[in-house]
Amino acid sequence: MILKKQTLKNYRNINEVTIYPDEYLTVICGKNGQGKTNLLESIWMLTGAKNFRGNKDNELVKKGEDFAVITAECEDGRKNETFNITIGGTECEKKGRYAKINGVDYGRATNIAGNFYSVVFAPVHLSLITGSPEKRRKFIDAALCQIYPYYIDIYKRYSRAVTQKNALLKANISFSEKIKLIETFNQEISVSGEAIIKYRVNYLDGLFKKAEENYKNISSESEKCFFRYTPMANTASEIYEILNQSVKIDLAAGFSTKGPHRDDINIEIKGDDAKSFASQGQQRSAALSLKLAEAGQIAEIAQVEPVLLLDDVLSELDSTRQNFLLEKAEGRQTIITSCNPAFFDGRNASIIVMENGNIINL
Ligand code: ATP
Ligand code: MG
Repeated sequence: MILKKQTLKNYRNINEVTIYPDEYLTVICGKNGQGKTNLLESIWMLTGAKNFRGNKDNELVKKGEDFAVITAECEDGRKNETFNITIGGTECEKKGRYAKINGVDYGRATNIAGNFYSVVFAPVHLSLITGSPEKRRKFIDAALCQIYPYYIDIYKRYSRAVTQKNALLKANISFSEKIKLIETFNQEISVSGEAIIKYRVNYLDGLFKKAEENYKNISSESEKCFFRYTPMANTASEIYEILNQSVKIDLAAGFSTKGPHRDDINIEIKGDDAKSFASQGQQRSAALSLKLAEAGQIAEIAQVEPVLLLDDVLSELDSTRQNFLLEKAEGRQTIITSCNPAFFDGRNASIIVMENGNIINL
């Protein structure tokens, strides 16, 4: 996948800019607060997913403007595509993100998932190691949604059933009626839950092998990192049984306490839980190993090299780890933000310098 050209209008602090990224390495430089991450984030928006900093859609629009527009020309080795994404601001009547590819209207931008393949690594992704189980589940589910459009359907079906069951657990209806309805939802949750677990197990097997290999290399073979996923059950009937055994606890808690939506990943570095014992550099390396493995999975499964977007990743890595990362990026289009352009001296990189939301010529 190659991003050849991108134009932004009214995106965050950017009035209007056009970039032509290098086929391999592009570095977005500039002082703090100039719009480097904004520019990188706008490229990520071509995936159709939410922005990785967790902002609301209308916060992506330049303050005081009605809407933002992202236009991009990409090529994936088979075809050329022109993306057009419009984002409504606070005052805009049409709220949310909408997308067109080659003039074809996809409606909501989430519908273009699977057209632009990309992997982003930003400081917030450290939470893959240090954050709650929900962060790790979101990462897996988002990665699966990008590769398998069918997973989005199953995931939506499953989430809808859990949301409805949660509402029911709190509803003011007779106990016998409640139990009957809970069982119906448990059936739906078990069937779609089994499919979710199958996808996860299959995908994570490949992902973890790659991530463990990446970690071994990133630490110059001096440390080992293990990733493990143990699903709550494997088959629909096993899930159904566990769900039915938990009805009393669910009723007391007021939400569904069991199900694949509560599963987690265990991560160990040098035999200890990474969240509690690993150093910041080790945690960052583990998160990066996972993200690079995600890129490897896309290349293997979707047969397209994703565009690698790296936000401010070099600062906390030692020079061996920095070099590993840049070597790993070779061969796929990589766009990286940095406050320190000197680091890229001698490397074959195209440099974009940002100042106050504009690109300046050196
Ligand atoms: P750092 O090196 O500190 O990471 P950066 O160059 O990556 O800095 P960005 O995160 O891209 O900086 O943000 C640049 C600026 O964009 C911030 O000062 C912020 O106030 C501004 N900004 C964010 N959203 C909007 C918006 N909707 N409208 C106008 N300005 C915005
Ligand atoms: Mg930044």
